[in-house]
Amino acid sequence: MVNWFRRPISKDVSDKLQFLLSSQYWKLEQIREYQWDKLQPLIRHAFSKVPYYRSLFKQYDLRMRDIQSFDDFSKIPLLTKRDMQQSLDQMVAEGTDTSCLPLNSTGGSTGMPLNFYQDDSYIQWADAARLRAWKYMMGATDHDLEAVFWGATRDIGTGITLRKMIYHVFRDGIIPLNTFDLDEKMLNKYLRYYNLLKPRILRGYATSLYYVARYVESKGISISKPRAIISSTEVLHARMRETIERIFACKVFDSYGCREVSQVATECEAHNGLHMVFENQYVELDGQDILVTNLNNYIMPFIRYKIGDLASAIDYYPCSCGRFSPRIMSLAGRDNDNIELPNGKVINGEYFEFLFFGMSSIIQYQVIYFRNTDKLIVRLHVADSFNDVGALVKKTMQEKFNYENVAIEYTDVFDKTQAGKLRFVYMVD
Ligand SMILES: [Zn+2]
Repeated sequence: MVNWFRRPISKDVSDKLQFLLSSQYWKLEQIREYQWDKLQPLIRHAFSKVPYYRSLFKQYDLRMRDIQSFDDFSKIPLLTKRDMQQSLDQMVAEGTDTSCLPLNSTGGSTGMPLNFYQDDSYIQWADAARLRAWKYMMGATDHDLEAVFWGATRDIGTGITLRKMIYHVFRDGIIPLNTFDLDEKMLNKYLRYYNLLKPRILRGYATSLYYVARYVESKGISISKPRAIISSTEVLHARMRETIERIFACKVFDSYGCREVSQVATECEAHNGLHMVFENQYVELDGQDILVTNLNNYIMPFIRYKIGDLASAIDYYPCSCGRFSPRIMSLAGRDNDNIELPNGKVINGEYFEFLFFGMSSIIQYQVIYFRNTDKLIVRLHVADSFNDVGALVKKTMQEKFNYENVAIEYTDVFDKTQAGKLRFVYMVD
């Protein structure tokens, strides 16, 4: 096995990782007890040291003694992105010197960029959880080289050169591909490096993995087989998973998290739902809305944070992998992916996934509703041998939604967010 040079993991991260390797097999009762033991001091801290929560508790007439159980905990009003945007200064714990802390932020894929602070302990726990999932749950080791197909330019830069590859291999143990800024020539060049370096782990945005898999298939390129594929950041639809697994001859592990709270849940070897990272996050569903409380960030607590993503259920039954940590089932994308038509009908964000189910000629699609002009644009990237999908879309929109202002565009160019994410279905003003 190639023993790639990497910066060593700090002792703090290593200690936390050792803990996470043992706690992953805890029984549900022990998990709940551990979470409650971490929740209580966090709430007390938020109540006494964080101006935002102090005034929130006052406004809702909540006192510490009112929060004695998980049920009581759900009385705390949830935290929205808008609350965060309006109250950044109020959310920082008193006595924190923010001048020496890096300000983290989201790219604002929902059109709502956010700034926030995270402390050392938070970062160490997040790193340890990532190492556990990526390196241990998926059967890889810490020395395995990773290929990373990413869209966020600020994370990996642009361009592909041998010098850049060598730099990243020795500094981070990764070979990065920026799928936000890519043409055929660059992709061919990258795939040559990929086959030469034979990475054991392949990690990336769901659509980036899918895009490269489709390219490899269409060109008949022979590709090195990784040991594990990790999909993140975007919804991994079943047809995408099937294509990626077939082309790379390797199982895909779906992973869910965000910059605000780090990794929330990850798929195990049983591939049946995503296990919560219960040591770092307390996760609830409010209807279908995912709420996350990060248990480690004391300088800027996120309590009952509404991420903006949906899931169908939380499964509390033990998993066949031997882990008891609850699993998030059927992640379904963002809550603002639904399209509301002027006639009052709502197109669910997942609707087109069902409409196109089993149509192998559809490579990619994007549906955008323009509120101003009252127009629905359906972009379709289809294989050469396609039937008239556009006619099917128009007919369905007319029959099911009583809506006719539909334009079909056949293209392989799709709008992406600042962070390089592809949103399948959304509305703009
Ligand atoms: Zn499992």
